[in-house]
Amino acid sequence: MALHKGSERHEARTVSVNPFFGEADPVGGMTEAPPTHRLPDVPLAPSTAYQLVHDELMLDGNSRLNLATFVTTWMEPQAGVLMAECRDKNMIDKDEYPRTAELERRCVAMLADLWNAPDPAAAVGCSTTGSSEACMLAGMALKRRWARRNADRYPGARPNLVMGVNVQVCWEKFCNFWEVEARLVPMEGERFHLDPQAAIELCDENTIGVVGILGSTFDGSYEPIADLCAALDALQERTGLDVPVHVDGASGAMVAPFLDEDLVWDFRLPRVASINTSGHKYGLVYPGVGWALWRDREALPEELVFRVNYLGGEMPTFALNFSRPGAQVVAQYYTFLRLGREGFRAVQQSTRDVARSLADRIAALGDFRLLTRGDQLPVFALTTNDDVTSYDVFDVSRRLRENGWLVPAYTFPAHREDLSVLRIVCRNGFSHDLADLFVDDLARLLPELRRQPHPLTRDKGAATGFHH
Ligand SMILES: *Cc1c(COP(=O)(O)O)cnc(C)c1O
Repeated sequence: MALHKGSERHEARTVSVNPFFGEADPVGGMTEAPPTHRLPDVPLAPSTAYQLVHDELMLDGNSRLNLATFVTTWMEPQAGVLMAECRDKNMIDKDEYPRTAELERRCVAMLADLWNAPDPAAAVGCSTTGSSEACMLAGMALKRRWARRNADRYPGARPNLVMGVNVQVCWEKFCNFWEVEARLVPMEGERFHLDPQAAIELCDENTIGVVGILGSTFDGSYEPIADLCAALDALQERTGLDVPVHVDGASGAMVAPFLDEDLVWDFRLPRVASINTSGHKYGLVYPGVGWALWRDREALPEELVFRVNYLGGEMPTFALNFSRPGAQVVAQYYTFLRLGREGFRAVQQSTRDVARSLADRIAALGDFRLLTRGDQLPVFALTTNDDVTSYDVFDVSRRLRENGWLVPAYTFPAHREDLSVLRIVCRNGFSHDLADLFVDDLARLLPELRRQPHPLTRDKGAATGFHH
């Protein structure tokens, strides 16, 4: 959410509008548009208010053509009906809406099972507004456990968290908000995510944990979670340091269990203390729902859990906010019930198939080099070949926008700031047909781009935003 400031510019605007626009009022229709930066003095008819807001929103992009976002942009109509039925339900009122609370509990149980918690009954977890909140909660649990372990030295010591420089911005937020030093493993050569050896070199007695990402928002690659855990096991043997791992599975925790069953990244690894995912990414639910799970009560210090009695009941909660819509949680349960393991496998497989074939076809155009191929997350990053000098990825991103496609271009972080890429996120609803149309549009642009004298997009930042 952008941090908005008030505006004076539009204060005094009175624009006349067609009196037959919206619902004419009995005295002779609306002749002035209502102010947009202060509350109007009088009410509008609902149909007029609707029309004004609806019309303005027509200028938003088409979410289905947005290849930047990981967030679900299509659900079945039945899910929409259920969500509409639940829009008045407040997730926090667990006593008033015990069935909604029960569906949340079942989702947690299903995820504990899916992520191979050794004792699913011992695992604890909750829904959140998304992975960002889930990561905050997981980070807080790591920090509190560290503080307990170091009770004699705390608060003098400064806690740190070790992770790849490719982490999603929520981890920078966590470190900033909770005053934890972020220790970032830089990229190196063609390695675009965390290296276990480099990670353990950054660990010391004040390391609250190491974050492993499944998979990276920069290029869709999975970080080597099992190798990371093995390296930390060896570190413990050598030094006695026992550093837990949190897996940020915002996307991959809902992909790998269905498509990469042999990949060991989850609670099967004893060092993995907690896992998060975004229900609204490959969990296939509209925004905003996320999940945070801890392997057992040991991993989630009890004193972080609140019990309030003023809504009736004594439900334990762990959350940053209080009131929150229940509809997304209901929709998540619907999706779990509706698809089951087979259904999820089919959906994620076809999304990955689209990504794989799109990556190959873009490579076949001749101008691009793939950094990843869409075979882990259905996401891939590409850059222009070295011999392409007349345009760059920012030009491609800007020109694709003319056809409605949103494809972000961005530079990589330390030590690969020299590298600029485009990233394509394939999601459920981005079909082979749409992928065909995308390749056609891209292929049509290339001759023009090749004729440019040099790259033309000056304001690289404004041309395109990087969406984690
Ligand atoms: C998207 C993402 C997040 C943040 O998730 P939200 O659900 O958008 O809050 C965190 N980590 C990773 C790896 C992500 O891809």
